[in-house]
Amino acid sequence: MRRIHLVYLLTLLTLLTLLTIGMAVTLPLMAQEISMQKSSTTLSAGSAGSGLQPAWMKDSMAKMERELVAKYGDGQRARAERGLRQVSEFWRVEDGDAAGFEDFARANFAGDQAALDTMFERYQRLLEQLDGHMHEISREFNQQSDLDLGPVLPFDEVFAGYDPSAHVIDDFFQNKLAFTVLLNFPLATLDESLKDGGAWSRRQWAEVRLAQRFGKRIPADVNLAIAQAGAEAAQYISEYNIWMYHLLDAQGQRLFPPKMRLLNHWNLRDEIKADYTDKENGLAKQRMIEQVMERIVTQTIPEVVINNPGVDWNPTTNEVKAAAAKDADPAAEKAGAKIGNAREPDTRYAVLLKDFTVSRRADPYSPTAPTLIDRRFNEDREIPEARLKAMLEQILTSPLVARTARLIELRLGRPLEPFDVWYNGFRPGSEYTEAKLDEMVAKKYPTAAAYQKDIPNLLVKLGFSPERAQYVANNIIVDPARGSGHAMGSGMRSEKAHLRTRVEKTGMNYKGYNIAVHEMGHNVEQTFSLNDNDYTLLQGVPNTAFTEALAFVFQGHDLELLGLPAPDAKAQAEKTLNDFWATYEIAGVALVDTAVWHWMYDHPEATPAQLNEATVQISKDIWNRYYAPVFHKKDVVLLGIYSHMIDSFLYLPDYPIGHMIAFQIEEQMKKAGAIGPEFERMAKMGRVTPDLWMVHATGRPVGPEALLEATERALATAK
Ligand SMILES: [Zn+2]
Repeated sequence: MRRIHLVYLLTLLTLLTLLTIGMAVTLPLMAQEISMQKSSTTLSAGSAGSGLQPAWMKDSMAKMERELVAKYGDGQRARAERGLRQVSEFWRVEDGDAAGFEDFARANFAGDQAALDTMFERYQRLLEQLDGHMHEISREFNQQSDLDLGPVLPFDEVFAGYDPSAHVIDDFFQNKLAFTVLLNFPLATLDESLKDGGAWSRRQWAEVRLAQRFGKRIPADVNLAIAQAGAEAAQYISEYNIWMYHLLDAQGQRLFPPKMRLLNHWNLRDEIKADYTDKENGLAKQRMIEQVMERIVTQTIPEVVINNPGVDWNPTTNEVKAAAAKDADPAAEKAGAKIGNAREPDTRYAVLLKDFTVSRRADPYSPTAPTLIDRRFNEDREIPEARLKAMLEQILTSPLVARTARLIELRLGRPLEPFDVWYNGFRPGSEYTEAKLDEMVAKKYPTAAAYQKDIPNLLVKLGFSPERAQYVANNIIVDPARGSGHAMGSGMRSEKAHLRTRVEKTGMNYKGYNIAVHEMGHNVEQTFSLNDNDYTLLQGVPNTAFTEALAFVFQGHDLELLGLPAPDAKAQAEKTLNDFWATYEIAGVALVDTAVWHWMYDHPEATPAQLNEATVQISKDIWNRYYAPVFHKKDVVLLGIYSHMIDSFLYLPDYPIGHMIAFQIEEQMKKAGAIGPEFERMAKMGRVTPDLWMVHATGRPVGPEALLEATERALATAK
């Protein structure tokens, strides 16, 4: 896990609202949102903001282009034309009249290289200060809730929920600092970045990133509505529990223990994974959970069974009765609910439709990426949808899938069933028990300070020179976390990265240590990609999958850092097969998520019932194409079960990308030998496009080849 950088927050506005405001918005805002939705209907006309442009704009642009060229020479024509066009795409009536626009352009166009250099340097320095200090405020405001510092008081939660940078983009358009950037620096589309980015200088890349910060101007009420929809969707998901003791099989038996309450989909899926070790009832339980999931996707689940221990339910026949046995506090039961099998009335899809409806409201204000699909693929991921789809198909249609499936069948001693997409029997194993590891770790790290002190040694073991190890260690502060742990980079070079890790009274345990090593990987990446980058505007990595992949490199060596032997070839093969099978599973889920968003854009007037029908059909189609040949069963809808699809706005494709990237980086580390210098070389590249970063790091663009090659080798080893 990693805290999102402020620099991302400023560029990825939708993500900002989703991840930060989204968590903090509470229900009293609902009334406000309803009134905002009414007023939004006037904004749907036109695309790329053109419908919002004042009528005089065209004439003023032409006039100013002539004037700027006359003043600075014909060499500036292309820049002037582009800059004026970029400003015009975001200029609204309230920003000023024709004379105001013309005065602004006259005063703020940097007409020669020296003026442009001054502007660039000053923006870079001041935005670093802004990002850094805003981030510092956020970190301090979150201190009490993030760290193990005693009780969290009600006002602490308000501090933690407050985002001091929430209005920065609005302010920068209002005071025209954003327009100055748009007038002078190129706002590149993904197509341009991919086509020309390889030839751009580092400075050109930094200019592009500078302009992109102001590449959309989404009104505050639209952002708030998106955040609100995200919060409501998260709320819907967070209360979607199944009370497992109340599931009955054909004989009326209860397969699951009392009080077991599983959240869809994470807990249900994890229970399927856990049931592989239950030799007696495991298979029956797994089949029953599959049935429950199918009923959720198709919305044939009786509404009254959701989050209600007051009824018993047979998911096969769909029969519902008052609970014949009690296992929960009566307060947990749905009071007054009518007992029967009236289905959930497409609520799952009504929530998803609302995500879509509010996301669309941002479209007219995002000229270079006018749909949420564009924003996710072209801006957040910077991997075109068609390329990602091709990569996923390469995995899904690989002959390695059938070979891995045969190995699973061999181990299970039965043919695959659909829920085996979540098979988790590939396990590295370890000669040390967790208790033994706990003991070793607690002795070595009784406090957070002990871990802090050891960081230079750990980094030397990972291949960093003693000087570089000390340099990085000096930039990391270890804090005792309240939760499981996270890494928090800084937004400016004068600040340090923070490693938050959990330390029990009895010292650190193995789980905490394993996480700390992962977070340390983030901190090292954060330090190099900010402090050792030639431009702070390029700080970071292309997207979150990259920082996770780098952190996993560290985490994968945690045993060696404890002085224990590295995992052997057999253990590595098991890990690879586990990752490959998980990628195969999530690749289909990502295709479903993407196809469903396309369907919504193609059918903007759809009802929840129609979206239900479409999602079920899409899930079946993708299953039939890529899974039915392996599982020998058609028309399965399980790929539609992920909760992220409902509350995370097209986030799921990030997972398969993450797996592919992790393998590419790992393979390169193996080739290079020592991790340290290679890690530093990669991390210093900063936030260019994923392909450019990966070519620099490994010689190849982002792709599934490394994963497939490793799987091929693993299959030979794992027999
Ligand atoms: Zn992480």
